[in-house]
Amino acid sequence: MPFYEYTSTDESDCPQCAGTFTILQHISDSALSTCPCCGQPVRRVISAPNLVGHPGDDLKPSKIEEAGFTQYRKIGKGVYEKSAGKGPGIISAD
Ligand SMILES: [Zn+2]
Repeated sequence: MPFYEYTSTDESDCPQCAGTFTILQHISDSALSTCPCCGQPVRRVISAPNLVGHPGDDLKPSKIEEAGFTQYRKIGKGVYEKSAGKGPGIISAD
């Protein structure tokens, strides 16, 4: 099943949707329009077409690196740790 990335439209203190979050959805599920945690409006971040593999493929860090992208995962409020690609190991909104 694919992961979809969402971003909230406003600053939020919600632990789910503050900044960007990733959620596992079935391919036939409709896109979320609100955060499942706090109900704040969110929008889906559309992946680059060349990063979308065959159905059932996960987005591998190596593919992200090959495509020249850097992937971060959230480790705290406003703090992200790099999980693939080139770039700073830690980025912080502070
Ligand atoms: Zn939320």
